[in-house]
Formats: sequence, C-alpha cells, structure tokens
Amino acid sequence: MKTVSTVVGYPYIGENREWKRSLESFWKDALSKEQFLAEMKEVRLNNLKRQQSLGLELLTVGDFTLYDRMLDHAVMFGLVPTRYKWSGDKVELETYYAMARGAEKVVACEMTKWFNTNYHYIVPEYEGQLLELTENHLLDYFNEAKEELGVVTKPTIIGPFTFLQLVKGYDAKSKAMFVLQLLPLYVKVLQQLVDAGAEWIQVEEPALTLSLNEEDVKLVKEIYTQLADDVPAAKIMLQTYFEALSAYEELSRLPVAGIGLDFVHGAEENMAAIRKYGFPKNCVLGIGTVNGRDIWRANLAEKAVNLQAVLSGCEVTEAWIQSSCSLQHAPVTTKQETALPHVLLDALSFADEKIVELTQLTAYVREGTWAGNKNVSESLRAIEALAQNEVRENTQVKELVAQIKARHFTRPVAFKERQELQQQALGLPVFPTTTIGSFPQSAEVKRTRSAWRKKEITDSTYAEFVKRETERWIQIQDEIGLDVLVHGEFERTDMVEYFGEKLTGFAFTQKAWVVSYGSRCVKPPIIYGDVEWTAPMTVKEVVDAQQLTKKYVKGMLTGPVTILNWSFVRDDISREQTANQIALALREEIDALEKAGIQIIQVDEPALREGLPLRKENWNEYLGWGVNAFKLATSGVANETQIHTHMCYCEFNDFIEPIRALDADVISIETSRSHGELIDSLKKNPYELGVGLGVYDIHSPRVPSVEEIEAILTDSLEVISKEQFWINPDCGLKTRQETETVASLKNMVAAAQNIRQGQTV
Ligand code: GLN
Ligand code: ZN
Repeated sequence: MKTVSTVVGYPYIGENREWKRSLESFWKDALSKEQFLAEMKEVRLNNLKRQQSLGLELLTVGDFTLYDRMLDHAVMFGLVPTRYKWSGDKVELETYYAMARGAEKVVACEMTKWFNTNYHYIVPEYEGQLLELTENHLLDYFNEAKEELGVVTKPTIIGPFTFLQLVKGYDAKSKAMFVLQLLPLYVKVLQQLVDAGAEWIQVEEPALTLSLNEEDVKLVKEIYTQLADDVPAAKIMLQTYFEALSAYEELSRLPVAGIGLDFVHGAEENMAAIRKYGFPKNCVLGIGTVNGRDIWRANLAEKAVNLQAVLSGCEVTEAWIQSSCSLQHAPVTTKQETALPHVLLDALSFADEKIVELTQLTAYVREGTWAGNKNVSESLRAIEALAQNEVRENTQVKELVAQIKARHFTRPVAFKERQELQQQALGLPVFPTTTIGSFPQSAEVKRTRSAWRKKEITDSTYAEFVKRETERWIQIQDEIGLDVLVHGEFERTDMVEYFGEKLTGFAFTQKAWVVSYGSRCVKPPIIYGDVEWTAPMTVKEVVDAQQLTKKYVKGMLTGPVTILNWSFVRDDISREQTANQIALALREEIDALEKAGIQIIQVDEPALREGLPLRKENWNEYLGWGVNAFKLATSGVANETQIHTHMCYCEFNDFIEPIRALDADVISIETSRSHGELIDSLKKNPYELGVGLGVYDIHSPRVPSVEEIEAILTDSLEVISKEQFWINPDCGLKTRQETETVASLKNMVAAAQNIRQGQTV
C-alpha cells in the first residue's frame, strides 16, 4: 500500500502574522499594489517551503487567500453584486476588498461563521447574473509553486455542493439555473488544472457532513457524475471534515479518485460506516488523523492503533495520512512561545508540529514499526506529564464538582414568583432602560492599560485610572437617566481573557494567533488545568461603581459556555466537565457579588449558540450540559437577586427554547440587525421571562432617532408584555465613540419615557 503525508490546508498568516501586516499596510496605502502582491507571494511561498522542510510529502495550494477563500471563489465565478459596479473583466483588488469590507458608498457582503468554527467567511450573493470564470487563482498558485519551487502540488477548491449551500440569493426555482451555470465553471477550473499538470485536486466538501436529505444526495451525485464525465482526467480527492460523511453508503460510491474522511470529529461514525459498507477498493482513502482544530500534541501510539484499525477495515491501495481539516484553525508554531509553563508547552502541537506528527505517523504506517523513533515515547511522556501535573489534580475543584447536586441547577422558586419578589425588592419602573456592559474604550483607556501591562505605570495608578473612568461614566449614565447602570468594563480588554487571567487552569500564549475573519486574528486562552475561583474578580469595580449612585449597578460576568467556546480547551476531560468547573467558579463570584450588596447580575452567553454541533441530532446533548452550566453558575442566588443574560449576533429563530431553559430573569438580546425575524419567532414561541430587545445596532456611529426607537418599542409590545419589557442597545458599546454613545442613549431613554406615558394614559 502506498502512503502519502499531506494536510487539508495550512495557516496562511505566517509565523509573525506577516500576512496580516502586509494586508493592513496595503489598506492604509503604505504599500503599493505591486509591493503588496510581492509580499503576499513571499508569504505564500514561505508557507510551502516550511511545510516542505518539515517533511510533508504532498503540498497544497489554494489554501492561501488575500482575504477569504469563499470570497475568492465568488470572485472567480463572477459573483460580484451589482452594487460594486463591476464592469465584468478581471475583478480588481479594489472591488475584492469592497466586497470584503465595504467602501465609501457600498456596504460589504455579509459575513458568517464557517461551519462550527470561529472563522467567518464572506457570503457570496447570487443576483441572477450570468456566471463566468473571471480568473483561476488556483491555477496561478499551482503554476507558481511549480515554477518557483519545482513541486507539483495539490490545488484545493471549495466543492460545488458546499459552495452552493453557502451562497445566498437563490430560491428553489432559481437554484437549478444557478447550478446549471456553476458546474461548467468548475469543469473549466478543473480542466485547466489538469492541463497544467495537476495530479490531484482536493475538492473540499464539508457540507457533506451535515444532515442531508434525499434531494441533497441526488444533487451531490449529479454534480460529481457531471464532473467525472466532463473532466475524466481530473483526480479528485473529495475532502470532508468537521463530522462524519453523511449518507456514506451512497456518497462513498461517487465517481471520485479519493475520499478524505475526518477521523477526529465523527471518527466513530466514519469507522462504523467503513465496516458496514466497506470502502471502494480503487479509491484513495484520506485519513484525517491529526486534529486540525486543537492545539494538543497527538498521542502517536494511540493514533497509530487507530490508523491500523481504519486500514484493516478496508483494502485500499493508497492512503493519505493527513490533518482532520485545514490547519488554519490552529496557530502556526509553538516555537515562538517562551513564557508558557514547560509542562504545557511540551504538550502543545500547533500547525508545524502537527505536520511533523503526520510525517511520523506516515513513516510508521509505511514501515509498520516505530523502531528507532523516539517521538512516540516523547509524545507519551509529555502527555503523561501534563496529565499528572498538579494543575490537573486540583483536589479542591474535584471535591466541589463531586458535591454538585440536582438542586444546584435550579432556582428555588419559579420565574413568576421571582418576578414579583424582584419587583418588590428592586422597585424598577416599567420599561427599565439599561446597557449591555461595556462603554467606549477610548484611546486613553487602551493606552493606559497597555502602559500598565508593560509595567510603565504601577498597579495603583492603573486602578485609579479605571476608577476615575468608571466614575465619569456613572455620572454620565445618571445624567442620561438610565435605570440600571453598569461600571463600564474599563479594566477588561476581552471578556474571556479577563476572567481567564484571574482563574486557575488558564494559560496565555504570546503568538498563538488564528484568523477570526479577514485580517482579524484572535489569540484564544488555553484551558489546560482545573478551573478554580481563588479571589473575587469583579467585585471591587462593581462595588466602587455602586457607591457612586442611587441607581442599581449590574454585576457583569462572562458565562461558562462562552468562556469555554472562546478558548482552546483541554481534551483529557469532557467539555461538560470543564464547563461545570467554570460554572462553579462563576457561582462563587456571583455569591461574592451578592454578598457585597449587588442585586442585579448579568452573565453573558453570546457564544452559547455558536457551540452547537453541526448536526441537529446532536444539539440536545450539547444544550443539555451548556444550559446546565449556566444554571449551575447562576442559580445559587436569592429569589430577589435578578439574573440577566445577554446574547447577540446569531440566529435566534430556532433558539428560543434553549434561551427559556436558561431561566434567566432577563435576557438582553441583539435584535436590530434582524428585527422582524426575532419578533416573528417570539410570536410563534411565546416567551414569558424578562426580555430587552436591542433597539439599535451598535456597529454604526449613527445616532438612532427617538421616533425610530419608539416605533420599534411599539412594534415589540405586540409580543412582549409591559411587565417583562426591558430597553437596551444591541450589544456592548466599547467600540463606539463617547459622543455618539451619549446621544444614542439619550434618545433611547426619551423613547422609553414616551412609551411609559403612552402606556399609562
Ligand atoms: N458585556 C459585554 C460588553 O458589553 C458583552 C459583549 C458581547 O456580547 N460580546 O462588552
Ligand atoms: Zn453582545
């Protein structure tokens, strides 16, 4: 049997985020177009050279982009919406970036999460236009690698079925027309690649792991039959990832030369399918064995056993030993980390290290032995050392977890009763107004925090500064006339990092960046040990603020599931267990806030929905423990203490049930971007707890008028009763300027007053 080591894709940002720097310099006109393209070429070739020097056998091109790969495909097929006034020839960079980011007079295309990852892609729009092949960047990259490095690479393209699923703008009727136009373009691209000498073409079809109906399966068959008929010479590696291949029995028989399966996510299902239906003999099997989405060193011995189990279940003549998905979801290399605890660092594996693991596993499969290879024992030792380390053996946490009982997950009395008690205790007006938590992080706030981090100013100077800024904003909120105030979150850069730095079990890297969207990179914290609360994290700031006003100041925390979903999480215990540890820590914090006299506490869960598994049938399991973690954190309070939560920027239509299950007294929820939609779904699913629909979008500096806010309020009264009605913006205000923030909130409060008057008459 022949074996080949390869990856589905490699991070394009470069070891020091060179890619991001070039891109942003170009946007600022600090680089000419030629300079920019030359720098991009350098990054692209360096990435290939790196992988080559790490010993990877089959290199991939087309995993690189100048902004986003879905956008590249949209542009390649001429899917440029008319608002960009594209003349129909080559799509210039100006148009490309206008689609990505908007320009003076045109809005950008929408952006959405790439399956269940934290990467966001640009959503192509079909407007019924004629499609055409405007370029073939895959061919360019293929030729470039051949000319510059002398290698025949494997170009990768997002497959027609997946592309189709992600494009918006067609309906059942126009879909056929769209497919009819799209496929010949795919044929052309593939043919050009074959003509240029491409031996293999990777066609990425992550959408084949979603729940597929009969019609989908039929369409997939038609697509691949047509590709096979029209470009018989193209050797397609049909690459799936993020879950098991759906409809395996039928789809494994597609006329393709290879099928790549994910043996990390969906491993059991893929295994079972191979056992049951076999794997086509003459087809190459891509075995996604090294996790492309985590940061942990692979247990090579275990991987080897799994590989053998897979291979013993089929009779293939060629297997690719590869990453479970593109490595773009992992940071580039651990080599840059100099400050992490050794026991952690040794157990990490980012993209480069994962490639080395793949080459080792390939050698093992090829030779059938680890002989002379120290790496297996090294990887075992590192994993074991971390497992045995005291960060993972926190007896206090273990005891706390063991003591959790069913009653820790529910408030003592039901919402209706709490509502009355809280009303008596708090005495808030009808239609209470509030904000989501953060106020503008001015240049001064950012400057001062960074000076403090660099130890240029002392802890006390920094604390003084935060206190003054809080004071100023308490006064502003009082003057505006808001009913429930916040301290403003001036001490926080990021809502997860802030808590991670104060809890045990977290580590922070220096350079473990991954792309979130466009040039924006994030550096998620690593949860590698048991999470424990050791001291109050937010009490001082909130209590300081409370002392300055007669109004209530809300405590402000990030919820357990959001902390989990926005971190790299240890894999030796279940996510549920880690979520519960975080929840217990937050429960202590909430207790401390309550003891300090804070009567309203908000626990944000903006990332609850995005953690949903790809397949609906797995939703309940996740939501079961996710919702429980939130309740574990929040249900220890007195009946009179009001628990708020907040969510934003996700699809709420199918999410009202889980929101209700949280049993939060009030949820403030982003609505303005999709106003009608949420109202509609509330009509269908009556919601009885407290709810504050966001009355304006916080992404724009535009100040909403009193009238328009009032109109939204009147509208919402149809579905939300006066007793449960709160008024707030869509989300936190940290990215806004002070003047527009004050003006918008003044209008919001005026609208609230008008509506109160209207109601009493
Ligand atoms: N409390 C946070 C803030 O206002 C919530 C942010 C969020 O929802 N992403 O900034
Ligand atoms: Zn939000």
